[in-house]
Amino acid sequence: MWPSTSRAARWLWGWATLLFPSACVVCGQEVREPAAICPGCAEEVGGWGSICQICGVGIAPGLDLCEGCAVETRPYVWARSLGPYEGVLRALVLLVKYEGERAVARFLGRRMAALLAGEVAVVTWVPPDPVRLRQRGFHGAELLGREVAKALGLPGRPLLRKLRHSPEQVGRPRQERVRAMHGLFSATRRGQGERVLLVDDVLTTGATVAEGIRALQEAGFGEVAVLTCARALGGD
Ligand SMILES: [Zn+2]
Ligand SMILES: [Zn+2]
Repeated sequence: MWPSTSRAARWLWGWATLLFPSACVVCGQEVREPAAICPGCAEEVGGWGSICQICGVGIAPGLDLCEGCAVETRPYVWARSLGPYEGVLRALVLLVKYEGERAVARFLGRRMAALLAGEVAVVTWVPPDPVRLRQRGFHGAELLGREVAKALGLPGRPLLRKLRHSPEQVGRPRQERVRAMHGLFSATRRGQGERVLLVDDVLTTGATVAEGIRALQEAGFGEVAVLTCARALGGD
């Protein structure tokens, strides 16, 4: 059974997870509580091997930087993700994004926290779209951000807000995304040079996090690092 195929399937899925809380959310196999993911599926979650020290994508062993980071500056000090946006990891990201699965967010958040590559003072997340937040009643990036903050023993704060509704970015060309993003976020308060960890579910072109970082730094926050569940490659 697969989440988010149709409304009926989602409804059934909701009941199934209520009635059988000890089933793996990915494959349905029985798991010992309170785990939501069986060991087999957990093992299949991402992993990169050698990574680019700046953006965190997998690269050939022996290199420090990927081709992109060798020539382009990034708005973040470092970015890390659990793995490519595919397979089990993609299924888990969708469960958090569309179903608000808290047990899955906890599982992912703990693993993400273990990827920390430098000191940060506060954890925040890419803010929700107000329209989608009303429709869904939860915000996946916030569920993840709060779990990451808890795992790191750091404050998790909503430091950004989205100023207007924007259509889904999936499948739009990069230039269009960048234009649609401009001036989309503002900080909720002034910073005093604190290093911020910005959490999101998937990093694609980086246009969203770049805009979030711009808003944070305009408000006086310091360097920003980025932590996402997954990395969608080839979206540029
Ligand atoms: Zn499983
Ligand atoms: Zn890189």
